[in-house]
Amino acid sequence: MSNILVKEYVCKRRTKKKYIFEREDMIKRTRKREWSEGVFLMGRYEWFGTGCWLLVNGNEGAIVEMPPYNAQFQESPANKALHVVKKSKIRIKYLLCTHTHVDHFNLKIAQEMQSYFPQAEIHLQRGFEPMIHGLNNVHYFDHESNLSLNGESLFLVHAPKHSWTDTMVIFKGVAITGDWELNTLKSAHDDKPQHRVPREAKIASIQKMRRFQSERNYRIHKVYSVHANDRRENINFDWLMDDTLVDRSF
Ligand SMILES: [Zn+2]
Repeated sequence: MSNILVKEYVCKRRTKKKYIFEREDMIKRTRKREWSEGVFLMGRYEWFGTGCWLLVNGNEGAIVEMPPYNAQFQESPANKALHVVKKSKIRIKYLLCTHTHVDHFNLKIAQEMQSYFPQAEIHLQRGFEPMIHGLNNVHYFDHESNLSLNGESLFLVHAPKHSWTDTMVIFKGVAITGDWELNTLKSAHDDKPQHRVPREAKIASIQKMRRFQSERNYRIHKVYSVHANDRRENINFDWLMDDTLVDRSF
C-alpha cells in the first residue's frame, strides 16, 4: 500500500469509528433521567444537544423545549414525551420553551406536541408571537407567568440576556436557565447587532432574577442549562446573579 492509500484507509476507519460513536452517543442521550425531584431530562436532541425536559408534580406535568432532532438516529422529542407520559400516566398541562432560537423552538415539533397533548396550554413569552402558526391554546406573557402543577408553583420569568425572548423556568427549587451565560455579563451573541441584548437590558434581567428569591420568599438551589451541559447543585442563587454581573471574558 502506498503512503497515500494508507493515509486514506486510516482516515476512513476513523470516520467510521467516529460515526458509530456519534450514533451510540445520540441514542444514549435520549434516555430519561431524573435530575432533581420532579425534574426529568427526557433527552438531548441533535445536532445542538438541546435538552427536552419534563416537570412533574403529582399527575400533572409540563414539557420544556421543542427542539429539532436528527430523525436518522433519534425519535422526535414529541414521540419520546408521549411514551414517557403514557407510562407514568401524567397529564400534560403546559408546553413551554426557553427562547426562540432554532435549536430550542421548532414549529413542527410544537405542532406535533400539540397533536399528542391537545389539552395542554402553550405558554410563551410575547416575542414568540410572530413565529407561531397553526397552534391553538397559546398564551403569551410579557414579564412573568405564574403557573402551577398540582399546587406547586411553576414560574416563567422573562429575563433577556442571551436572547430577547429568554425565559427562566423555575420549579421545585430548580431554575432552568435556557442558554444564559453564567458568571459573566457577556453573552454569546454580543457581536451580532440584530440579536444581541444591550448591556443595560442584561443588567436589568440579572437584577430582576437577583430579586426573585426575596420577593417571593422562594429558594432556588439548583441551576441547569437547558442543553444539560451545565449542572449546578446547592448553589447560592443570589451570589450567582451578583457574579453574573461581572463583565469578564468567557
Ligand atoms: Zn441553544
